[in-house]
Amino acid sequence: MPDNPPLTLENIREVPKVLLHDHLDGGLRPDTVVELADAIGYRNLPTTDVPELSRWFREAADSGSLESYLETFAHTCGVMQTEEALVRVAAECAEDLAADGVVYAEVRYAPELFVERGLTLDAVVEAVQAGFDEGTRRVAERGRNIRIGTLLCAMRQHARATEIADVAVRYRDAGVAGFDIAGPEAGFPPTRNLDAFEYLRTNNAHFTIHAGEAFGLPSIWEAIQHCGAERLGHGVSIVDDIKSDADGTVHLGRLAAYVRDRRIPLEMCPSSNVQTGAVRSIAEHPIGLLARLRFRVTVNTDNRLMSGCTVSSEFAALAREFGYGWDDVRWFTLNAMKSAFLDFDRRLDLINNVIKPGYAHLTN
Ligand SMILES: [Zn+2]
Repeated sequence: MPDNPPLTLENIREVPKVLLHDHLDGGLRPDTVVELADAIGYRNLPTTDVPELSRWFREAADSGSLESYLETFAHTCGVMQTEEALVRVAAECAEDLAADGVVYAEVRYAPELFVERGLTLDAVVEAVQAGFDEGTRRVAERGRNIRIGTLLCAMRQHARATEIADVAVRYRDAGVAGFDIAGPEAGFPPTRNLDAFEYLRTNNAHFTIHAGEAFGLPSIWEAIQHCGAERLGHGVSIVDDIKSDADGTVHLGRLAAYVRDRRIPLEMCPSSNVQTGAVRSIAEHPIGLLARLRFRVTVNTDNRLMSGCTVSSEFAALAREFGYGWDDVRWFTLNAMKSAFLDFDRRLDLINNVIKPGYAHLTN
């Protein structure tokens, strides 16, 4: 058998990948931001020079705090206030993910952020869905396949979670795979939205919760034990409940053990965590320890525009820092596919007929 190819960015782009944590308003193409701003008369961009704007997004997001990171979204959301804009952004998202080798993605967005010019929540959801349908069709025309579900986010600092949860349930047979809460974590604990989570559970609907990104263990504990989150967005601070002795022996606290025992998926986004200051560097990212301990870890982009990343570039960075091989990339990908908010039979189909064959020539 020939040697496996090295884990270069180009080679990683060729294998099938699964993305569970990606924000629609964090993944626009820089030239699209400029064109949409012009089309709808949005005048607040820091620059209309495309390369300069692209750099500006990354630098502004690099400032080291989640709050200023979130400020960059004023511009992306500012240009996404019409049906045409939402259709275009979603269609391009599907194309960009497929070009990176993603075969299944759950892309999330907060409908309440796109109603400044009079769109209803339902109109937002229908426009985004039309965009993903269009993008998926264009991808298929080029001989690739991608399947995309959406997650509807409610913003933690607003008070519309029950309303958004209702939209998520109403559109669950029309492309909406689940629900999430996003926005500033400190001061806005998951239990503030308990009504929404109870409504979703009553309706057998899926949800994940951003927890343990900018705030510690209590946020994770509430998300799982009070709210019933099936997955954790980031979940980085679960390492605070893991102690290592000098001889390398590792001890899991009760919460960390629960998360691992229950196979609760962690939607980890390494570059984003470095940018917001949740961790100091990729090399120090807890994903290394958590993967070694066989937590249900997945690799995600969070915001491709702000981080200048793709799923493939995240894997390339992790491979560089942790020495990962193709077996590891395959393991992370299977973890993600198993954790998707997609029917069991469809997950199994993607695992057996797309993912495993896609790595068959690389391992063993
Ligand atoms: Zn996120």
